[in-house]
Amino acid sequence: MAKRKTDQRQPRVSIEGEVLRQIRQHARSNSKTEVCGVLIGAENGSGVSISARIPGLNAAQAGTYVTFTQDTWEHIYKIKDKEYPDERIVGWYHSHPGFGVFLSDHDTFIHKNFFSSALQVAWVYDPHNDEEGCFGWAGERLARVSEIRVKDDKGGEEAGETGKPEPVGGIDENEEIVETETEAGPPVWLKWTLTVTSHLLLLALGFVAAWIFFPRPIIVFVNPYNGTAIEAPAGTRIHSDGSVSVPGLPDLQPPSFDRNAKPSVPGSTPQPAPQAPAPKSDGGKDQNAPRK
Ligand SMILES: [Zn+2]
Repeated sequence: MAKRKTDQRQPRVSIEGEVLRQIRQHARSNSKTEVCGVLIGAENGSGVSISARIPGLNAAQAGTYVTFTQDTWEHIYKIKDKEYPDERIVGWYHSHPGFGVFLSDHDTFIHKNFFSSALQVAWVYDPHNDEEGCFGWAGERLARVSEIRVKDDKGGEEAGETGKPEPVGGIDENEEIVETETEAGPPVWLKWTLTVTSHLLLLALGFVAAWIFFPRPIIVFVNPYNGTAIEAPAGTRIHSDGSVSVPGLPDLQPPSFDRNAKPSVPGSTPQPAPQAPAPKSDGGKDQNAPRK
């Protein structure tokens, strides 16, 4: 599968369960507009481990997208210098209330301008359908990270402190893989809309083809006196019960017949054959009978 190929280029991402909960809570607190913030943590060789986040309280929320303004950065750095002096900004997060997990052009612009380091990631969370995803650099382009490891206790921190790349199997017991998709594709609703639209289009084409290629009934009356055809007036209809309606005339009822009725023409059905007389056997009986 394509997963193995991209794994070598994408950053490995692990996140503290507590940070995950804080991001979700932040996004749910404002279900109409986007919220954003930065991710705090450490880079370790092939990826990042996210250990905290700073909400962008002063981020301008212009309708449906977030912006990192000068004020936002001042607020973020003030908190970072005080509470996380030894950590790094390893990426950012923002919410997509109700429109799925992907990176818009605007998001890509933000990532390229503010989070362009090879290992910096973009975390997207949709609080409406509780879906989340993480995007990172895969060569020249941004792709959805195939595996996100969630650390649910403090056991995974030692690997980060030693500075060595984490052994893949070492902390698996505390981890939970929450994402398996690899590509940053269009949102699901768009795929469904396209599928339904294409099916409806095919259905409409089928109706048009049927109208063109299949024969339509032409109603013709026959003059009973000379056998010539009389063209039915426009608007003449044959109904499913067999009756015919002609504009301007009372409905013509189909001839009715009774299956059990006796035929009016005698001899049209075969008469039952007369019973053949039973052969006489009296003579034989007399011969076999005991003599008196
Ligand atoms: Zn976005």
